[in-house]
Amino acid sequence: MSVLVYINSNGEKIAKNAFEAVTYSKKIGDVTVVTNGKADDSMLAQLGKYGASKVLVDRSFEGIDEQQITRLVATAAENVGAETIVFSNDLIGKAVAPRLSVKLSAGLVAGATGVPQEDGTIPVNVFSGKAHGFVKVNTDKKIIALLPNSIQPEETGADAAVEEFNGNAGDSRVTVKETKLPEGDIPLPEAELVVSGGRGLKGPENWNLITDLATELGAATACSRPVADSDWRPHHEHVGQTGVAIRPNLYIAAGISGAIQHLAGVNGSKTIVVINTDDEAPFFKAADYGVVGDAFEVLPKLTEAVKKFKA
Ligand code: FAD
Repeated sequence: MSVLVYINSNGEKIAKNAFEAVTYSKKIGDVTVVTNGKADDSMLAQLGKYGASKVLVDRSFEGIDEQQITRLVATAAENVGAETIVFSNDLIGKAVAPRLSVKLSAGLVAGATGVPQEDGTIPVNVFSGKAHGFVKVNTDKKIIALLPNSIQPEETGADAAVEEFNGNAGDSRVTVKETKLPEGDIPLPEAELVVSGGRGLKGPENWNLITDLATELGAATACSRPVADSDWRPHHEHVGQTGVAIRPNLYIAAGISGAIQHLAGVNGSKTIVVINTDDEAPFFKAADYGVVGDAFEVLPKLTEAVKKFKA
């Protein structure tokens, strides 16, 4: 079976969810990767270690214009005779996979968490992660958008062959006026450890409580939606149903109530620690460890404890 994977290679390195998508696809069939932009060949060749036999790169356009990427992937799918097309269910995947589904009349399975079963059904997360379902699409071509952090990237092979490719992506109707990279060394979607704050932190002037602990732990920082809406923190840190969905090994939430829309983005975390003054805060129901206490007292103590532990 021929499987085509789209990955975004516009960053300084290839993101973990790209390696996940390639590892996943290798479990289904023979993998070709398609991408766009200026990434150098040696960076792209690494995808071979995760199971790609070939990488097609269209260097005629950079960036993440959904319409150009849709045309690129459609051309590549025809070129390699792909029966299955895989995306990571990240911001680009969520925008491109449905467009491609219409363009190719191919059924789409969004939010996949595992490989197709013997009967062709694919496990998915539904209702914002509150339940698991199985979806089967009956079209000849299938599109799968894999939920980030559903599987571990596995190194199995050698470098892939990298080939220049003309994806007939066409012109972009989007004008990029400015590009702002997120602060911090650890991109939130890839972070294994996350320290997050909500309205209980009272204001942006107190955010050092969150960042101090995050720095000691080597964690990324996140926040609830009202915090980003109030401009206390940048929007790319907002996690939840309408923000970034994350699945870190550890999620520490301070001063966050645990509304269902927040939980939708974090309840895949392996271990959840909640710090809240209200012992009836809904977040405690989802927590593995709960501290009923004032974040202004608990966070500095936690930071000190981590410092001591590391010394
Ligand atoms: P609050 O609800 O105000 O809770 C603050 C918490 O801090 C309380 O539990 C309080 O007991 C505690 N607290 C107060 N002082 C302290 C202290 N000193 N120490 C410790 N704890 C303290 N929200 C998201 O986060 N992400 C989303 O993606 C999202 N999408 C949404 C989509 C829709 C369509 C809608 C309608 C809402 C969405 N929301 C989302 C908003 C969501 O419903 C909640 O309003 C929001 O998550 C609440 O944020 P919060 O917990 O920071 O604030």
